Amino acid sequence: MSSQAAYQSSETAPSNAAPAPAQDSRVTPMMAQYIEIKAANPDSLLFYRMGDFYELFFEDAEIASQSLGIVLTKRGKHQGQDIPMCGVPVERADDYLQRLIGLGHRVAVCEQTEDPAEAKKRGSKSVVRRDVVRLVTPGTITEERLLEPGRANYLLAIARRRASDTQWCYGLAAVDISTGHFVLSETDGTGLSAEIARFEPREILVPDVIHDDPDLRSFWQETRASITPLSREGLDPASAERRLKDYFGVATLDSFGAFSPAEITAAGSALFYIEKTQIDSRPALNPPSRDTSGAALAIDAATRANLELTRTLSGERAGSLLATIDCTVTPGGARLLAERLAGPLTHPDRIRDRQDAVTTLVGNNDLRDRLRRILKRSPDLARAISRLSLGRGGPRDLACVRDGLFAARELGLELAIAPDLPKELLAAAQVLQGLRTDVADRLAAALADELPLLKRDGGFVRQGFDSNLDELRELQQDSRRFIAALQARYATETGCRTLRVKHNHMIGYFVEVPQNVGEDLLKEPWKDTFVHRQTMAGAMRFSTMELGELESKIASAADRALKIELALFDEMVQTLLALSADVAAAAEAIAVIDVTASLADLAMRLDWTRPVVDASLAFAVKGGRHPVVEAALKRDGVPFIANDSNLSGKDAGHILLITGPNMGGKSTYLRQNALIVVLAQMGSYVPAREAHIGIVDRLFSRVGAADDLARGRSTFMVEMVETAAILNQATARSLVILDEIGRGTATFDGLSIAWAAIEHLHEANRCRALFATHFHELTALAERMKRISNATLKVTEWNSEVVFLHEVVPGAADRSYGLQVARLAGLPGPVVERAKTILSELEKSDREAPKRALVDDLPLFAVPFRAEPAATPQRDALREALDALDPDAMTPREALDALYRLKAQR
Ligand code: ATP
Repeated sequence: MSSQAAYQSSETAPSNAAPAPAQDSRVTPMMAQYIEIKAANPDSLLFYRMGDFYELFFEDAEIASQSLGIVLTKRGKHQGQDIPMCGVPVERADDYLQRLIGLGHRVAVCEQTEDPAEAKKRGSKSVVRRDVVRLVTPGTITEERLLEPGRANYLLAIARRRASDTQWCYGLAAVDISTGHFVLSETDGTGLSAEIARFEPREILVPDVIHDDPDLRSFWQETRASITPLSREGLDPASAERRLKDYFGVATLDSFGAFSPAEITAAGSALFYIEKTQIDSRPALNPPSRDTSGAALAIDAATRANLELTRTLSGERAGSLLATIDCTVTPGGARLLAERLAGPLTHPDRIRDRQDAVTTLVGNNDLRDRLRRILKRSPDLARAISRLSLGRGGPRDLACVRDGLFAARELGLELAIAPDLPKELLAAAQVLQGLRTDVADRLAAALADELPLLKRDGGFVRQGFDSNLDELRELQQDSRRFIAALQARYATETGCRTLRVKHNHMIGYFVEVPQNVGEDLLKEPWKDTFVHRQTMAGAMRFSTMELGELESKIASAADRALKIELALFDEMVQTLLALSADVAAAAEAIAVIDVTASLADLAMRLDWTRPVVDASLAFAVKGGRHPVVEAALKRDGVPFIANDSNLSGKDAGHILLITGPNMGGKSTYLRQNALIVVLAQMGSYVPAREAHIGIVDRLFSRVGAADDLARGRSTFMVEMVETAAILNQATARSLVILDEIGRGTATFDGLSIAWAAIEHLHEANRCRALFATHFHELTALAERMKRISNATLKVTEWNSEVVFLHEVVPGAADRSYGLQVARLAGLPGPVVERAKTILSELEKSDREAPKRALVDDLPLFAVPFRAEPAATPQRDALREALDALDPDAMTPREALDALYRLKAQR
């Protein structure tokens, strides 16, 4: 099959075109073949198989040697120039592929497609046939080492159709070929960014026209995924439909669900690309299922990043909400949890189904523990099956399926005796109970205890499973015994006690004797038996006819044994693939049980509660906590202060305006409420004493933004673009969280924008909202608008130190304690003192019209220039001892003792 790539180059992949075809008659036939294959794959680094290595040549070699830190050498000449070359050993190719894919490259893997012996038959100079067998791209990888176990690896194809004269609708097809997951969805222009962000794809296929649409340019820049533009507008719906039907061997798509033309087109382009990259292999994909539009809570990329749902702002998993709540024990469970967190639901009934499942396991510790014990023994069934279906699986993948099927059987039995299972668990139980697991018994009987990574290494079939194989193995064993006997005989006959029979790849079996004995063997009576092969330093090597015969016996027995093992392997794979749809369903059921049990475990351990979720516009949380901050504080033994919030409304939401000190906990409070919505709508319990959430359709969270210089936007510009998106898109069902909006510009500009934005949220969007601000002037809005109220974070002052109580109470703050926080942060003393003076002068004057004269009146900042950094302040032992005292925790006697100690210290 031709390996001509039908897509254009990725933005990230370098275009390293093939060297010019050689006119030079001195080009070797092998190099001519290389150049031809490279010309068909100009956008990929070509891994060209030569023996035990994949070699790279020309510019590919330069890129790979630099990216991988491997030595660049040269091989022959092309058009008078040295040919740069580097190579990677085949058995370590996965590691190198992982690094190259991570750097945004694509790799075309070119294998020998015939036996070298066949090539020789065509003439001594003929080259072994080679062809590209696979294009490795970020969205189409399946190797265990290239994938993150707990993360789906989505390839996302996008197509669009006209919905009206002014509107487009977008079809999305998300395919994870490492698990077979295949989901379709449709959205309009405003939902596209959130939908892309939900899948967090590794690679996106976009038709040129969509890619070049100026309105959408920012999407492609925002995403972390590798972008692959398709050179034509995907496929038309009719041919896309045909492709889908062919792939799944069905006459109609109706049995899979009702798909829109945009979804079918997207699915068609995804399959088109998979076929192009996998060449002759076909991943075992599940039939596409439809994610109904609006079924998922829309969360755009900025909100996801800001709430640190699956990654922190610095891009790490640790410290994210996902990492904090992930107690799953299987890779499939971890992926499903991430998927549910990325796409919380919006249908109360479906949410309640999930909650019912969690509640069952919260209430049954025994069952939960037993299920989790079995789950811990359940490996990554979905990915093993996928590798086997692509012909990339090894004996360990078979073992993985064996263990997965055993776990499935045990889980099914456990659930069979559990009373009153709710819908979700019942459905999972039925899948597992209906699964044919006799194939697992056969695998258990067939597979040895220790398994090699690659099937070609052999030795994976258990002794006693196949009598022919056992016979051949015995023959090999016998031959070895025979060699030992031969060595003993030769030693006695030659009188050389140190004579040894050894083996190497160059000359096979040979006899090795010391030099002086070797000289004798060259003469009568030995010279006819021992044929001289090599002279080493101090030793000589000989072959004998008997050894030669043995050698070929052993080799042929090994060959035949391997053939039998490979045939058994293929037979087992075929049996499994015939069941692949059932195995995929079982993998999904295991993941559901794992997610449910892990959420139940979490709820029990952390004392979370089941929220009431319905179609109202309620938002009432009692004793709410921020799960990630709470976990971090717990590590330091600091308690988290729980807080209430109420934004409930009848036909419009309520806005809570939060003022308070810096470091008081405003941002934490805002985010914890957003996270409670995400957790509630994904079907989890929530970190609160009580919670009632009316379904949220869109969640927005913005913080006075950071610069986005890469996109040529300043801090304030980013902040305004994001605020505009909220004001344009939020509905009465949305939840909006705005943290310090309007701070990136002059005070009065910012204040006016924040003021107008709140009015718009109240009057036009009518959504539930939390708005944190240091513009205390805004608190006046609560008196003029009925659905706005003020809240503040309590602080107290002790010895002119500010103490944060992190408690949200009704009311407005009159100050931000910025100077105290600045001092705590280590701002130099003179600067803090100076700021205090300026502040008190400013406060004395009319704040609405700060006068130039005021600044003019102030005496100049009188701190002398200092070239050296400020010395650390002298330690004050008395003050430190005083600080260490906690009068509330002392008995009168202890207090008196402490007083004496302080006096003595003076
Ligand atoms: P700023 O106005 O300076 O941005 P902020 O009011 O938004 O500050 P946060 O960033 O939310 O304050 O919180 C500051 C720190 O206070 C947190 O890192 C956390 O350690 C602690 N904190 C916040 N809320 C609580 C709470 N409810 N209980 C205990 N500690 C808390």
